[in-house]
Amino acid sequence: MITDEILVVKEVNYKENDKILHALSRTKGKIQLIARGSKKSNSHLINASQLFAYSKCSMTKSRDMYIITSAELINSFYNLKNNIDAFYHGNYVLELISYVAQENDYDYRIFDMTVAVLSHLCTMSKDFEKLTAAYELKLVSMLGYRPYLKHCLSCGKEIKEDSVFSIKEGGLFCSRCVNYGSGINVTYGEILTMERILKSKFEDIDSIEVNQKILQVIRNFLFYYIGKDNFTTLKLL
Ligand SMILES: [Zn+2]
Repeated sequence: MITDEILVVKEVNYKENDKILHALSRTKGKIQLIARGSKKSNSHLINASQLFAYSKCSMTKSRDMYIITSAELINSFYNLKNNIDAFYHGNYVLELISYVAQENDYDYRIFDMTVAVLSHLCTMSKDFEKLTAAYELKLVSMLGYRPYLKHCLSCGKEIKEDSVFSIKEGGLFCSRCVNYGSGINVTYGEILTMERILKSKFEDIDSIEVNQKILQVIRNFLFYYIGKDNFTTLKLL
C-alpha cells in the first residue's frame, strides 16, 4: 500500500463505471491510476476522480498502473468553474505540467507550486496572465533553466542598465557586449521585474507591475527550453 498526494490532470472514462486518471503525484512524478467505480454516484472516489482534484490517496501498484483504494479530497479548486478566465488558465497549467512532468521523476517543489498556483487562480478576479507568467518563470527555473539576470553573459559586468535579453543564451548582454548575442531589448526596470517575480510568492505577485512584453518574453523563454509551444488550451485564451 502506497500513500501519496495527487493532482488529476486528465480523466479518461474506462469500462462502465471506472476512470483512468492521469495525475501528477508529489513523490512519483506523472502516474496513471484506476479509480474503480468512480462514475457511480455513490462512489467514495467520486470527488477525487475529477479533473483538478487534489487529494491524498492510498493505492496499490499493478504493473504500470496504480489502483486507488481510498482517497481524501484536499481541494477540488471548485472556484475555477465560476470564472471562465480562471478556468482556462487552470486548464493551461494542467496541460503544461502534464507535458513537462515525467514518470518516475519528481520534484515536490513543482508539485507544491502547481497546487499553489491553482489555489491562487481560485481567489482572483483579474490578472490571470500575470499569475500564469509567474508560474511559467518559476517552473522553467525549477527545471534547471533559471535566466541569468545579474551579470552580463559576455563580460561579467553587473547589470544596472537597459540590456539585451537572449532567450537562447539564457541571460543578458550589457550595452557594450550587445553585438555578441542577438535578443530582445529590455529596460533595467523590466529586468528587475523578472527578478522580483522569481523571488516572490504567488500572493505577492499582485504588487508587481508586469507589461505585455515581459509576459511574452517569459512565455517564449519557457517554450524554448521545454521544446513545445502549441498548447491546445492556449488557443482558448
Ligand atoms: Zn558585457
